[in-house]
Amino acid sequence: MSKNITLKCIYCDHQTPYRLKTGSCPHCAEDWLDPLYNLDEVQLIWQRGLKQRPQTMWRYWELLPLLDKANIVSMGEGCTPLLPLHNLGLMMGYPHLYIKDERQGPTGSFKDRQAALAVSVFKESNIKEVVVATTGNVGISYSAYSARAGIKLWAFLTSTVVQDKMREAALYGTEVIKVTASYDKTKEVAQQFAEHKGFFLDKGVKNIAAKESMKTVALEIAEQLGCLLHPDGRGSFVAPDWYVQAISGGLGPVGVWKGFSELKQMGLIAKMPKLALIQAEGCAPMANSFKANLPQAVNVADPQTLIATVATGSPGAVYPYLRNIILTYGGTMEAVADSESFRAMHVMAQMEGISMEPAAGVAFAGLFKLINRQVIRPEETVVVNCSGHTFPVEKHLLGERRIQALRPEAALSPDTSEGVLTALDNLDERVKSIAIIEDDPGAARLLRRILQAKGNYNLHEASDGEAGLALIKETLPDLVLLDLMMPKLDGFSLLDMLKEDEALKNIPVIVVTAKTLTPYDKNRLSGRIEALLKKGAFMEDDLLEDILDALE
Ligand SMILES: *Cc1c(COP(=O)(O)O)cnc(C)c1O
Ligand SMILES: [Zn+2]
Repeated sequence: MSKNITLKCIYCDHQTPYRLKTGSCPHCAEDWLDPLYNLDEVQLIWQRGLKQRPQTMWRYWELLPLLDKANIVSMGEGCTPLLPLHNLGLMMGYPHLYIKDERQGPTGSFKDRQAALAVSVFKESNIKEVVVATTGNVGISYSAYSARAGIKLWAFLTSTVVQDKMREAALYGTEVIKVTASYDKTKEVAQQFAEHKGFFLDKGVKNIAAKESMKTVALEIAEQLGCLLHPDGRGSFVAPDWYVQAISGGLGPVGVWKGFSELKQMGLIAKMPKLALIQAEGCAPMANSFKANLPQAVNVADPQTLIATVATGSPGAVYPYLRNIILTYGGTMEAVADSESFRAMHVMAQMEGISMEPAAGVAFAGLFKLINRQVIRPEETVVVNCSGHTFPVEKHLLGERRIQALRPEAALSPDTSEGVLTALDNLDERVKSIAIIEDDPGAARLLRRILQAKGNYNLHEASDGEAGLALIKETLPDLVLLDLMMPKLDGFSLLDMLKEDEALKNIPVIVVTAKTLTPYDKNRLSGRIEALLKKGAFMEDDLLEDILDALE
């Protein structure tokens, strides 16, 4: 199929044929043009053979604004995994949480989609020198793809971007210019430079390729969710109830929304998702303006956040565009503190094995907030964009916590009585032991994981009440985590037996249960346990606090 793409101005609806370097509408001179494709034709083609195509974002070729496949510059971007969040779901009682793992792009962020398509279009347009302003990841990703395509890149970064990111961009041979000013000011400087030199300026959301690339996130989510939910229903797409993303300028959700709406127009999904767009509190022009119900955003001149990746202070036309979508289809904009984002990073790393950069942590902090407020409901399907991988972990995230010093030379010296083995032993000092009595393997895994990540304990586990009692007698733990509903001997009876036994009655017990307690149940537990936690309704730190109290 030869591509027949038309550009439509979102302000005056004027249509023009697609040309690669089209900048603005010939009718009203505004510069937000959306490509229109022949969706009926695309749908027929996809019905015949989408499934068999290679696992990259280029499988959606018909909906991308590149004319000749020969110009594709690719490193296998796209088709990142959609991963279920089992531990987090169990902890919070939300069984349908997924992440779109964009860390798995070639340079570690979802900007790889943007770079792949934009640089391919540069190649097709015979553009040899390009200027971008960036908060970091676009700089890295465009650098990598430009290197492959033989394009010289000038990347203007704000001085708040972490040095590691600047160095990585420079490693690819990019000219890196560090601007001591806000990101918005940096954009101005980059524009002046491009005009002065006559180089092509990539204008982010105003760059058609950049915006269109982000559609592939939506197309993949719907295709992958379709496969997960209907393993035998060939070719079905499913939209989630929520799409959650950390935003800066908002290019991501603009493109993602277009992707879902094209699927909807093709009749491939039944409904549109709600958008939850999360900003860092210290630079949240969109979230703040949304809450104040303002039709235009109030800009932030002086961002106050450590998370430079998401510090765009003036969202321009993107804000009213996204606000309108949310007012029509549901969703929300929310702001979170840096500290909440860092905490979310720790939770995701410790509970799910997913290490992300602080910008992605913003999305998860937003997720937790919206769950706490019940804006997102337990029965809803939620996909969070895990937008970027962590780079060398920044100091302010971890401090010296959990990094132990070991000096083998010191241990070997004759005047210390300690040998290397003792020194190694000391690395793992487990003074307290905890018994987990729990029959559900998922819940047992969750408790075990929290205790592994949050402290250093000797753990003993039993999966029914009888085995639990035997285990407690044998190991005399410092604390028991007890489930109530279990086979053979339930938690209530086990508790009775502990309290009747002189040797065991002083061992503290924390009950973790899914049972809704009757007044009679409560009476049976009253005064005999240290704490009661409801499964699916606590965070890992809540449990830890109760444990530390009980062990005191
Ligand atoms: C760019 C970026 C964002 C913000 O994306 P926008 O959709 O452009 O606002 C979030 N997280 C990471 C890791 C990013 O690189
Ligand atoms: Zn127009």
